[in-house]
Amino acid sequence: MGKVIGIPIELNLSWFVIFGLLFWSLSGFLFPTLIPRLSSLSYATMGGIATLLFFASLVFHELSHSFVGQHYGIKVDRIVLFLFGGVSETSQEMPNAKAEFWVAVAGPLSSIFLCFFFFLFSLVLLPFSGPAALVSQWLGLINLVLALFNLLPGFPLDGGRVLRSLIWRFSGNQRFATRIASRTGQVLAGGLMIWGVIRLFTGNFLGGMWIFFLGWLLLSAAANEYSELVLRQALGRVKVSELMSREVKVVSPDLSLEEAVHEYFLRYPFGGYPVADPRFEGNILGIVTLSQIREVPREEWGLRRVSQVMLPLVKEDALSEEDDVATALLKFRTTGLGRLPVLVDHQLIGILSQSDVIRWLNAHPELSRED
Ligand SMILES: [Zn+2]
Repeated sequence: MGKVIGIPIELNLSWFVIFGLLFWSLSGFLFPTLIPRLSSLSYATMGGIATLLFFASLVFHELSHSFVGQHYGIKVDRIVLFLFGGVSETSQEMPNAKAEFWVAVAGPLSSIFLCFFFFLFSLVLLPFSGPAALVSQWLGLINLVLALFNLLPGFPLDGGRVLRSLIWRFSGNQRFATRIASRTGQVLAGGLMIWGVIRLFTGNFLGGMWIFFLGWLLLSAAANEYSELVLRQALGRVKVSELMSREVKVVSPDLSLEEAVHEYFLRYPFGGYPVADPRFEGNILGIVTLSQIREVPREEWGLRRVSQVMLPLVKEDALSEEDDVATALLKFRTTGLGRLPVLVDHQLIGILSQSDVIRWLNAHPELSRED
């Protein structure tokens, strides 16, 4: 929708919902209750100004994150505003715990600043206009709420990031810190939802709905978004060809299980092999693994063939060299197979297994960084 200090600011669709709801509840309910007997145009004006300035306060909050981020050399790609807050998106990783701490506290601090500003401003306005002073007072209050809410110590709120940076700083373990902050985020969200339901059934329908909805949003965010985002971003940058084993042995479908065990599983370190006619290696028929063979009684190994126990595979299930690892994980899930062949022009060039990916992830603990 616009650019501030070179950072594009975008509105999530949910913002039009909150804009409408906020305007409606302020000009239709809150302001008429606090200052009765004004014209409806006055209430609409008050509601409009309050809503717009609330929106501006959110932008101010997000921009302060970005300002401090820039100080630490983190470039913010864009700010997306959505229900009850915003997200500063950056493709860069937080360099250290200290940077994360200061980038995270900057938001709530800026909201506290605005809180004081609007409260003081309302005192200045009071002798001139009661309604204007009220709007300013409400803005002071909502910024205080914004600061306190964002300081709740659970990811993805600012307080959760602060908590994560502190644990990261004192334990030196970023993954552990991330896990704790996500857990507390889920507990907090669950608490909010329960509180919302209680308020809903004790007569405060609208307030209860808001709190419940907020908790629900937080819960889904804390549970999935973070870890998935981190993983997806990290794995999306890695090509299948970087992790796959190139040393592929193809098992013939006509081999007996006895032969397969002796000639492959006992000889090489792999837990599974692609099955193909040795003359047409690109034509992968399936995957055979040790656990499938183990399901067959030992005394039948000489009689049964690989083609009888393998998990069949269609061409579309195979990976290509250019696929990224995020795509590969998706295929592991859809096929239910733990390893997939990698083909280039019908030529078998490698095999990628889930354990290759897990091993690689374990070797790169720095991947659970701030996006
Ligand atoms: Zn914030």
